[in-house]
Amino acid sequence: MHSNYGYDGGPRPKRASTALALFRNLMVVAAVAAVAVLVSGFLRGDPGFTGLLPKLAPSVQATASSPGPAASGQGPQKAARAPDTPPPGLEEAGHPLGSPAKPAVASSSYKFLATNADGTPAGYSPCRPLHYVVNAALAPAGSEGLIADAIAKIAAATGLTFVDDGTSKEIPSEKRKPYQPALYGDRWAPLLISWTTPEAAPALTGSVIGTGGSTMYSFGTGPKSYVTGSLDLDAPQITELLDVPGGAHYVSAVIQHELGHVVGLDHVDDPIQLMYPEIGAPDGLAAGDLNGLYKLHTAPCRTDL
Ligand SMILES: [Zn+2]
Repeated sequence: MHSNYGYDGGPRPKRASTALALFRNLMVVAAVAAVAVLVSGFLRGDPGFTGLLPKLAPSVQATASSPGPAASGQGPQKAARAPDTPPPGLEEAGHPLGSPAKPAVASSSYKFLATNADGTPAGYSPCRPLHYVVNAALAPAGSEGLIADAIAKIAAATGLTFVDDGTSKEIPSEKRKPYQPALYGDRWAPLLISWTTPEAAPALTGSVIGTGGSTMYSFGTGPKSYVTGSLDLDAPQITELLDVPGGAHYVSAVIQHELGHVVGLDHVDDPIQLMYPEIGAPDGLAAGDLNGLYKLHTAPCRTDL
């Protein structure tokens, strides 16, 4: 069965200048490279019971740049604060905050939404906490604790430190801005987890039960890192699920699956993994999922974002 359930969301691209050469005394003395910030939003829509997602190619597009200081011509460009971004390196420690335990069973049945030139996965910086907020206005009865429980499992598997910033009234949007100082202060917006409806979040139309993804930045050809994300849950559909015996386990699996997308995992064709596009069995994270999540702790720390 084929359905148009998935899509790539996130900010729309805009292009700006990339480089400017300076000439002095008839000699090229410096090239002023722009600080190119690449942004890509990933969002995966997930059918609840039936249907297969089409394979989606990640899109990475230049969205913003600003003139950087004149470089000496050697070495990586020093990060400058790009437009519509917070001060770089907020809460960034000099080392990963957590050290996840290596999975007991080896498996290569995992896939990343994006990788860097050296093969490392695009992920969140493991050297800073990942803040999240929940729009809980439509949270179904009986869903208490399910998000925190799923977060704890993903945190343990990745070594990422999640920080609960409480509730938010922010409405989910395909065009969500990753930097919203009026709402969240001078920092990257936190991961937004929303109990919502197909009317408010059209990606949840039909049998799609949840979507999840993150926005990533990079400087030039440097490593890509996520800075914030969105996770939408279909409240009416999940309300029905929670009425079914064992439904809470299923809902927990849905939330963990979407969190898997948020931190950087793509779908796999292996039906025993939680990252299989159809969440058919509420068995939680399997060996492939756990190995992929574990590998995300090798994502680079980012004092420049
Ligand atoms: Zn999915």
